[in-house]
Amino acid sequence: MQKILNYINGELVAPISDSYIENIDPSTGKIYSLCADSDDHDVALATDAALAAFPAWSNTSSSDRSKVMLKIAALIEENLEALALAESIDQGKPLWLAKNGEIPRAQANIHFFGTAIEHFASEAHPMGNHALNYTLRTPIGVVACISPWNLPLYLFTWKIAPALAAGNCVVAKPSEVTPMTAFLFSKICIEAGLPKGVLNIVHGLGPKVGAALTSHPNIPVISFTGGTKTGAEIARVAAPMFKKLSLELGGKNPNIIFADCDFEKTVKESVRASFTNQGEICLCGSRIYIEASIYEKFKSAFVEEVKKLKVGDPLLPQTKVGAIASQLHYDKILGYIDLAKEEGGTILCGGKTAAVEERCKDGFFIEPTVIEGLNHLCRTNQEEIFGPVVTLQKFETEEEVIEFANSNNYGLACILFTENLTRAHRVAAAVKSGIVWVNCWLLRDLRTPFGGMKQSGVGREGGWEALRFFTEPKNVCIKL
Ligand code: NAD
Repeated sequence: MQKILNYINGELVAPISDSYIENIDPSTGKIYSLCADSDDHDVALATDAALAAFPAWSNTSSSDRSKVMLKIAALIEENLEALALAESIDQGKPLWLAKNGEIPRAQANIHFFGTAIEHFASEAHPMGNHALNYTLRTPIGVVACISPWNLPLYLFTWKIAPALAAGNCVVAKPSEVTPMTAFLFSKICIEAGLPKGVLNIVHGLGPKVGAALTSHPNIPVISFTGGTKTGAEIARVAAPMFKKLSLELGGKNPNIIFADCDFEKTVKESVRASFTNQGEICLCGSRIYIEASIYEKFKSAFVEEVKKLKVGDPLLPQTKVGAIASQLHYDKILGYIDLAKEEGGTILCGGKTAAVEERCKDGFFIEPTVIEGLNHLCRTNQEEIFGPVVTLQKFETEEEVIEFANSNNYGLACILFTENLTRAHRVAAAVKSGIVWVNCWLLRDLRTPFGGMKQSGVGREGGWEALRFFTEPKNVCIKL
């Protein structure tokens, strides 16, 4: 069976303990590869390799760093088919989605920061003829990048790219649930000629590898994407060590639909925002608030569209909703559907496991589920489910829906549909979330600040924000 190895000091190596975690294909429920079950010893080796590589890498010119990153980006493009297939098998997402969305975005992440670094500049603050201040922005050292399972290579590269471009060395940890594309990525880095030790990838469990990275005294920067509880644990360990932290955490995003929306487009886009990647995207809109005058009309059109979504084998082109990433997560989602019923919710469609034939008969599939009749403050509407489950609720006024939207501890993204431009600006300013999409969803420009408020995170990724995060600013003041 294929072994997923660590990438340390430019080489693919077995974990020191030589133990492995079973890696399961969620569409079949069967073990299909073995992932390195690393520990603090492997993290120590990787960190030493990164420390040794840092002086040379941080001293290369930005154009030299750019060159090797563009080679990596080109190799991702060349290996699109293999990477997309690996991602689909590992995570359960439809193959077409990996091929058209996720892997091209991973390529774009590397390409974007590989070119951005050539344009990165710092500031000068002249004080007339009196003095001149200028800001140096230097690479920091060895940084840890820890990523989740829902968009594996996409989110992994989104962190690594700005860290490397800015001249840092990296020890990265992909999710143990979906390690395959990070392993293939390490082979790409070797082929591209990335100098040894610049990027190290250590596979394994969060409480072992992740915790060892978080507490390592020679890693002063942590960029983390994952659940809010894990983020809190990382912050607890990192704060007394005064580490620099970027935390991209959970979401429970409102999707607000006003009566003056473009109805057909709104229904279509809301279905996409609810169920893409089985609803396993932190940006999905899971609380759908609909203005009372169009509630019934929207409900029937939306449910009709949702019922058409084909749940099935992720490798088939007609599949719209694939497998849930793991048995653990599948059980959690089903538990939330039971909770919604206990809380008085009515299931309008879905609400149970989906039977998928043949090779996928033992996989983890759940029907896209739409629920109504719940209060905005109940647990179903407050906690992140992170699956193919949405709730519908009506509202009477703009003030009321802003209150509903902001009634949650998360504040990652908000989606709103209206043809009234003034209202769009007003509501966008009033909702407490780091990202607002008006009449669209997941339209991304990599230059924009990306991240959440409240329990959805601390800091922003993307564009200059990311390059600034991965550099240390130093002001130099010269008396003239
Ligand atoms: P998770 O928090 O369980 O795991 C994320 C990563 O952290 C994994 O690599 C895991 O091994 C590691 N980890 C676990 N325990 C750790 C510890 N004690 N110390 C250090 N690392 C540890 O999250 P998940 O289940 O993989 O991902 C789903 C979550 O990620 C959802 O809450 C989702 O909203 C969130 N997410 C957020 C964004 C965003 O941009 N804000 C994007 C995608 C996913």
